[in-house]
Amino acid sequence: MPLRAYQPLSKPCRLCGDGFEIMQAATEPALSECPRCGAPVRPCPAAGVSIPRITRKPSISEAKQAGFTVLKRTSGGEYEKQ
Ligand SMILES: [Zn+2]
Repeated sequence: MPLRAYQPLSKPCRLCGDGFEIMQAATEPALSECPRCGAPVRPCPAAGVSIPRITRKPSISEAKQAGFTVLKRTSGGEYEKQ
């Protein structure tokens, strides 16, 4: 699914700052309001083009803090919890 970026129309969104990104299917219509606070938003036209976001791969400890279960691939080709 593509990542779409939106910007609030008026003041910065209290919950999302000056914009947010959301995963949407290509068939879904663009959002007209923030899904979190309901403020009117517009699609950010430069999404994914001029503002590439550096998505750093989180470390294992960060992933665990975020509540993810970290799986380690064993030599046997199976996954196990670390
Ligand atoms: Zn918002």
